[in-house]
Amino acid sequence: MKLAIDETRCKGCNLCTKVCPYKIFREGKRLNRKGVAIPELDRPERCANCRLQKLYGRQLCGVCQLTCPDQAIHWIEEEPYEPHKVAIEY
Ligand code: SF4
Ligand code: SF4
Repeated sequence: MKLAIDETRCKGCNLCTKVCPYKIFREGKRLNRKGVAIPELDRPERCANCRLQKLYGRQLCGVCQLTCPDQAIHWIEEEPYEPHKVAIEY
């Protein structure tokens, strides 16, 4: 599973940066087109949900998602590895 912030919903309030016990979120530095500094993710694979949600079949933390006032945080299924043909040119 992969942690994702919906940039169209996020308003940059940074509540998520305060509540995460693993400090996954950091205050964003760059403003997007809407003038919002979206939080940056610091090694999101450390998140309990990202690592273990699928294995345990349930949400294991989710404090950030519960706290976000704009429902901007969610988890997405990662695509399985898809092999590609590799063309080697000499
Ligand atoms: S709590 Fe939600 S709206 Fe606020 S910065 Fe985090 S993702 Fe964005
Ligand atoms: S689910 Fe918990 S550990 Fe994962 S990013 Fe959100 S607050 Fe942090």
